[in-house]
Amino acid sequence: MRVFSATLATETNTFAPLPTGLAAFRDRGYFPAGEHPDEPQLFTGPLWAARLRAQALGLTLIEGMVASAMPAGITTRAAHEALRTELLSDLRAAMPLDIVLLGLHGAMVADGCDDCEGDLLARVREIVGPDVVIGAELDPHTHLTDAMVRHADLLLAFREYPHTDAIERGLELVDLCVATARREIRPVAAVFDCETIRVIRTPVEPARGFVDRCRALEGHDGIVSISAIHGFPWGDVADLGTKLIVYADGDAAIARSTADRLGTELRALCDATRTRGLSIDLAIDEAIASPAFPVVIADGADNAGGGAPSDATFMLRRLVERAIDRAIIGPLWDPIAVALAFDAGEGAMLPLRIGGKIGPVSGAPLDAVVKVVALRRDAAMTGLSGTREPMGDAALVAIGGVEVVLNSRRTQGFSTDMFTQFGVDLAQRRVVVTKSSQHFFESFSKVAARVIYADGPGTLTSDLTTLPYVKARRVVVESF
Ligand SMILES: [Zn+2]
Repeated sequence: MRVFSATLATETNTFAPLPTGLAAFRDRGYFPAGEHPDEPQLFTGPLWAARLRAQALGLTLIEGMVASAMPAGITTRAAHEALRTELLSDLRAAMPLDIVLLGLHGAMVADGCDDCEGDLLARVREIVGPDVVIGAELDPHTHLTDAMVRHADLLLAFREYPHTDAIERGLELVDLCVATARREIRPVAAVFDCETIRVIRTPVEPARGFVDRCRALEGHDGIVSISAIHGFPWGDVADLGTKLIVYADGDAAIARSTADRLGTELRALCDATRTRGLSIDLAIDEAIASPAFPVVIADGADNAGGGAPSDATFMLRRLVERAIDRAIIGPLWDPIAVALAFDAGEGAMLPLRIGGKIGPVSGAPLDAVVKVVALRRDAAMTGLSGTREPMGDAALVAIGGVEVVLNSRRTQGFSTDMFTQFGVDLAQRRVVVTKSSQHFFESFSKVAARVIYADGPGTLTSDLTTLPYVKARRVVVESF
């Protein structure tokens, strides 16, 4: 069987100040056809899975372009059109095909195109015709649209948030697409719209049990696949919302009844889940009152993984103003401050203007005399599924008892090695702040005495009523 795989993925925060241009893709992960490295990337689960399965399933894999960008604001028209054109031209060159496997995100919005994935799948279908199987892996933070469902045979979203199962889900997608191409199964879809939106954290109840129940149903009684679509609250598009998609084997009635039953359950789970965090000061209060340390605070409002600049100073400022000792925060994106710290050298004291540079959502810059504690060239931390997450040149600086990890390549705080690579012993810290919404949890929960979700001001504020939605349905965004 001839299989083509390619990736075009980013998550667009339509309220974020930074544009997503070609440089953002080149910076994070751009590989022309046939140049995908010999290690998996977050949005190349299908390609990687097809490599793993090629011999056993007799697949001839043709690898097309792979492009994924760190989430930010609206993707520029030039970047969207250039990357789409490249992917489709790789596809045409790979014909004839039996299967197309795409690594998508599901919440990419470009200048002039609110549904980049529906648009791409429609174009792919037009090129390959009705008989070629089209499968795509999605991030659950997707805006699931009718066009996406109509033009794909199978859409599978990661089950977990943190997204630790990209390869596992990719393997399932490959197996199901091969079974479909062999005419062993005939997937038919049904979608349930929960008409709400929530952040759904899968390691903990009630989401844990729901995910496990859905998984147990797959492969039995005609159910091919089930994906909970969490939705992405910070993308102002008509299809924003929490949904659920079920594929049954040739039986639309089973797909419909299963989607209705599980979708109703997911809707109830959303209604029962409070996802608003504590204000910055309350989060700090609770952290320092804890009998055991370290307490990990998630500063999700400034999470680069959701499109925030990650140079916001709201949390840092309060830690400094309140003179919290043995506190550490990162990663705070400030390439200029990093360069100055490198110029000054380890051990130097210097006045430094930190953060607050990208826009009002970043707050005001913080001016302080800092000590340069440690410097790392070309630093990296462990990302999801063991991937390497580059931080660029990075500096650990101290303002009194508050330490800050400054990075020059924008990324969220995935893992504790963001701090420990500087020689920091987190067991000796009282308050550890990571700029991440949930992906931090996999790593930080192993060392945290307690985890607190903060809800400060910033790009990813949880108070959706403060955001100027125009296209999203009000019933959805008012119910967060
Ligand atoms: Zn996601």
